[in-house]
Amino acid sequence: MKKLFFLFPVLIMTACHTKVDYRDASAPIDARVESLLSQMSLEQKVGQMNQLTGIEHIKANSQTMTEDDLFRNTANAYYPGFTPEDIEQMTRQGLVGSFLHVLTYEEADYLQHLAMEATPAIPLLIGIDAIHGNAKCRNNTVYPTHIGLACSFDTAMAYTIAAQTAKEMRAMSMHWTFDPNVEVARDPRWGRVGETFGEDPFLVTQMGVQTVKGLEQNGVLSCVKHLIGGSEPINGTNGSPADLSERTLREIFFPPFEACVKAGASTFMTAHNELNGVPCHANEWLIQDILRKEWGFKGWIVSDWMDIEHLCDLHHIAADNKDAFRQAIEAGLDMHMHGVSWQKAVCDLVREGVISEKRLDESVRMILRSKFELGLFEQPYVTKQYRDSVCFAPEHQATALAAAEQSIVLLKNDGILPLRQGAYKRVLVTGINANDDNIMGDWSEPQPMEQVWTVLRGLREQDPTAVFDFVDQGWDPRNMDAKQVDKAAAAAKQADLNIVCVGEYMMRWRWLERTSGEDTDRSDIDLVGLQNELVARVAASGKPTIVIVISGRPLGLEQVNKHANALVYAWEPGQFGGKAIAEIVYGEVNPSAKLAVSLPYSVGQVQMIYNHKPSQYFHPYVCDKPSDPLYAFGQGLSYTTFAYSDLSDLSDMSDSSDAVTVSVAVTNTGDRAGTEIVQLYVRDDIGSVTRPVKALRGFKRVTLQAGETQTVTFDLTDEDFAMYDRRLRKVVEPGTFTIYVGASSRDEDLLSTTFTIQ
Ligand code: BGC
Repeated sequence: MKKLFFLFPVLIMTACHTKVDYRDASAPIDARVESLLSQMSLEQKVGQMNQLTGIEHIKANSQTMTEDDLFRNTANAYYPGFTPEDIEQMTRQGLVGSFLHVLTYEEADYLQHLAMEATPAIPLLIGIDAIHGNAKCRNNTVYPTHIGLACSFDTAMAYTIAAQTAKEMRAMSMHWTFDPNVEVARDPRWGRVGETFGEDPFLVTQMGVQTVKGLEQNGVLSCVKHLIGGSEPINGTNGSPADLSERTLREIFFPPFEACVKAGASTFMTAHNELNGVPCHANEWLIQDILRKEWGFKGWIVSDWMDIEHLCDLHHIAADNKDAFRQAIEAGLDMHMHGVSWQKAVCDLVREGVISEKRLDESVRMILRSKFELGLFEQPYVTKQYRDSVCFAPEHQATALAAAEQSIVLLKNDGILPLRQGAYKRVLVTGINANDDNIMGDWSEPQPMEQVWTVLRGLREQDPTAVFDFVDQGWDPRNMDAKQVDKAAAAAKQADLNIVCVGEYMMRWRWLERTSGEDTDRSDIDLVGLQNELVARVAASGKPTIVIVISGRPLGLEQVNKHANALVYAWEPGQFGGKAIAEIVYGEVNPSAKLAVSLPYSVGQVQMIYNHKPSQYFHPYVCDKPSDPLYAFGQGLSYTTFAYSDLSDLSDMSDSSDAVTVSVAVTNTGDRAGTEIVQLYVRDDIGSVTRPVKALRGFKRVTLQAGETQTVTFDLTDEDFAMYDRRLRKVVEPGTFTIYVGASSRDEDLLSTTFTIQ
């Protein structure tokens, strides 16, 4: 009897679901999913869990790559033994769930039509790395990369960019972006710092959450990545082991990921690297215990590029691919990025009884649910009119420019900036980044050059009265020509002012020639090639010299800093970058950004972070470098000045269950309007475990007219005082906390008060 009691409702449910036509948009999604699932073959279920690269991508790479190249390359692929026609046939049979690296709507729609020929017809998810705008697609808007955006501390801007990106993606027939990267960057040697929101967990969390919301609320699946540890690789190289204590994971790396679950992220991506000896792609603790059970993640998880195969051929924890697939599925992965060996191997695993079909159903259900929720069954294609009205829309261009203006950090200014139009008649402009579309940053593909503002173009438009003499140093820092450096040094003598644009090269279409970006790590962070020499030689002219840095990673700029009258860190400012730089240099825009990462003097200072432990510099470096960074987290100048006063005195207050409100008066003491990023840090004065010297717990952007004062308030809750005790329980310990408020993470820029929790 008991058995019947349980079986009855199940049978009724199944019967109801199979009665529903999965194409019926008015039916509940759960019922549509079950109905569809019941009509799918094992092969089709396995196919739904698989992703392949687009056909045009395959065609191009099969011409240029050898089979050996395939092993190491994480951006380009083809499938030896499989022709584009084979892939098309698989798609027609419903054996592919998703494609990536499809860069045009024509191809996206073509593949989608093939998929809709299958029985049952299930639309494809087209995934793309739309990291700072849908920048891999031509005529889409290219915004600043995350590291620059983080320097704006503007979370509303992060939301807007994500929302506009989502709209452009959908207009291009694309539905799923592998973004945001919410890894906390702790090593500038790692080439992917530019994809992150910097070194502070709180800032990364705020920016990441808004990015997830902006995407998900505008019809695109976000993919929170990479879980986890890849941003503190043991030797700085992408995908090398991460050896991180559970305390460090919980204090530093987990918070942004957990917050993105709560913000509604649909998908997660696991990281290339091993974590404490267990590769993330087979890490049940990470995927099941933490992500699913502890954080309550209900979405689905995609592997990173060939990383399941790497359980076998790189990490050597699986004897063959089939066993690697088994381990990944058992650990909880739902989709395989990417390749053709998955299909047979996983079907065999089920037929052999190693993996149950029920287990696959769990993954397929979630993937189908996403496709239903996105409305793809009703509307798998987009119309041309929609696309033309959305991609590179004037409103999106305005956002990209504003974001660039807000993300460029002025680090040094001896008074030369802002330039007055006409003040310098003859200006030398040189450096690898003076006139190159590298200004767009990693994860962009070429855009029409009339839609890209290089620095030279921006300057020429900004001051038509000056003559800008351009001495070309090529785009390639590794192969600079000494003769061109001589030429620039000679030109500097004739000029009234020098502007030198230095930095890194990160364009993906020259994958092997880059100096920064994915898989492009360095053992040093000095400028590559003759760039230091170029700055020194040009500055030796005795003419004022402004240095502009285009780079996704923090660079060691000690030498450059000595020579420069002004130093502008523009990061990877996107296609309007040159315009924004020129506006800042000429004072049309007052800079407001602050560093989201510390800039060390040199690589030897790594790990250089502001939120380090108290003992980190007990014994400072001797002889060579100080124990501070060249520029600290939170630093950045404006053309006006700000004074802080009247910080709340909390010393008489003890905790209440309500939030603690901290206020401070900020006055614009200069003679022009400006925006200040007010920062609040907390230090736990005595803890049962060591606590960071300070941790960011709040920030606000305030715009003040000359002479204006505003009171800025922050509400602190328990969460802001919480920590993990010796048994890794999250607690708020009684005791005193120092609260710092001010202009940067440096002690000299902060006012402080103490607060006691009884
Ligand atoms: C990267 C991911 C990216 C994927 C697809 C991988 O190599 O690590 O971040 O989303 O490629 O392009």
